[in-house]
Amino acid sequence: MISIGGRLTIWPDRCRGCRSCQMACSFTKTLEYNPSASYIILERDLETEKTAPMIKSLRCDLCGGNPACAAACSYKAITFEPNWESGSCE
Ligand code: SF4
Ligand code: SF4
Repeated sequence: MISIGGRLTIWPDRCRGCRSCQMACSFTKTLEYNPSASYIILERDLETEKTAPMIKSLRCDLCGGNPACAAACSYKAITFEPNWESGSCE
């Protein structure tokens, strides 16, 4: 668990599986657009065929308080509250 002053919230029902969050995360961390290098996985429910993002790496540092994944998600499936008191990313 990382505490950094802020909270990422994932809203699974809003996810459209576009992978923009993965692209943004990988570019921020590796300077490459490579979903497999991002700290996010997209889980797919085989029954509903819907996807939902999950933070997979404890190396996630919330991008120092300006999460690229949340900024990249046009569907608000990942949101960030910077003033959340005891924020964490698990
Ligand atoms: S969380 Fe947002 S950016 Fe990531 S795949 Fe889902 S809709 Fe796309
Ligand atoms: S907040 Fe974490 S998961 Fe999101 S882009 Fe930054 S390092 Fe990646």
